[in-house]
Amino acid sequence: MAAKEYTRKRTFVGRIPHGSDLLNSLTDFVKEKGIKLGRLQMIGAVQRAVAGFYDCEAQKYENFVFEKPMEVLSLVGNVSLKDGQPFIHAHITLSDEKGQSFGGHLMEGTIVFAAEFIIEELEGENLEREFDKTTGLALWDI
Ligand code: ZN
Repeated sequence: MAAKEYTRKRTFVGRIPHGSDLLNSLTDFVKEKGIKLGRLQMIGAVQRAVAGFYDCEAQKYENFVFEKPMEVLSLVGNVSLKDGQPFIHAHITLSDEKGQSFGGHLMEGTIVFAAEFIIEELEGENLEREFDKTTGLALWDI
């Protein structure tokens, strides 16, 4: 295991506007606030959702689209740096009108119905994502 130690800095609590793209809105927010590292959580509802599943063999994401309103039971993610810019990695768990759950890696194209988020900024050494040959993913350089 490898880890670095950080301390908590600012905490932001907010809403994301109806009709906006969830991932892009969160990314714009962390860039605007200069948040380089942090954790995020969100609950609410979406009008449609796009989630990804990472195919380990092919080393690429397969996206699936939910073209219907769904609850966001949980969105958990983190903020770190990729190519020197704040970057969000988040996973979303959704439920439909029968309470069935789906989820995956949050992708662009997920449209907000209502969203409440909390972002906790962390302070310490910069944490950059770097390409990892073994997985084909941009992972933390720890
Ligand atoms: Zn992911």
